[in-house]
Amino acid sequence: MRTDVLGVGFDPVTMDEAVERAMALMDRPGADYVVTPNPEIVMICGEDSAAAEAVADASLVLPDGIGVIYGARILGRPLPEKVTGADFALRVFARMAGEGRRLYLLGAKPGVAQTAGERLARQFPGLVIAGCHDGYFSDDGPVIDGINAAGADFLLVCLGAPKQEKWMRANRDRLNVRLMAGLGGSLDVYAGAVRRAPEVWQRLNLEWLYRLIREPRRIGRVMKLPEFLVCVIGQRARELFARLGKE
Ligand code: UDP
Repeated sequence: MRTDVLGVGFDPVTMDEAVERAMALMDRPGADYVVTPNPEIVMICGEDSAAAEAVADASLVLPDGIGVIYGARILGRPLPEKVTGADFALRVFARMAGEGRRLYLLGAKPGVAQTAGERLARQFPGLVIAGCHDGYFSDDGPVIDGINAAGADFLLVCLGAPKQEKWMRANRDRLNVRLMAGLGGSLDVYAGAVRRAPEVWQRLNLEWLYRLIREPRRIGRVMKLPEFLVCVIGQRARELFARLGKE
């Protein structure tokens, strides 16, 4: 059963369990997909029903970011741990490398996916980079043909949210891959174009602050976090009143 946080259902799994589930999905036919909503995406789902449906249809919904973890805790139904999308995928790549599996990288500005692929191939010997394509295209057809010709097991779709979630849902039946994951800016991180916060910032759950200091134009997006927490507290209060009403 999924854990509801403002209408978005999250799978209550640890990082280890998420990786196991992903590997099991990769073994079964059909293009399943993984999404990793953060508070900003949860808020978008509240206003955009197509985004909400794309998230709900995913085979695995992972809590990306400490905001979702706090939200679930405030609601009285805690999730086991934060499962950051970029880290989750690295764990999956390590498993794929051991099995000689094939990865396709879709998204980001021209050249970024290529660099990310070269770096990942060096980091995970045995992992096969089946192909890559930038995320700025207007016609899906040729891009999908290219992905299908590459014969990949796992496809990263990094087009930003909620575009990537909608893209995966709309095209899953045309794609000959085993698993997809919508991972936002992860290709920029893997390519070394954007730096992840140092580990101590990550441990202190301040990754969002580090990103904001480096990219101040993200302020509008970061301000979704307090808005999200206010909505969570509102939902908690409504649930408490509803329970009191029944007793
Ligand atoms: N992007 C893309 N195609 C688009 C719009 C965005 O490939 O039409 C890429 C963009 O270049 C960036 C990623 O999607 O690499 C989104 O990054 P962002 O930092 O916004 O994602 P987050 O991780 O915050 O969701």
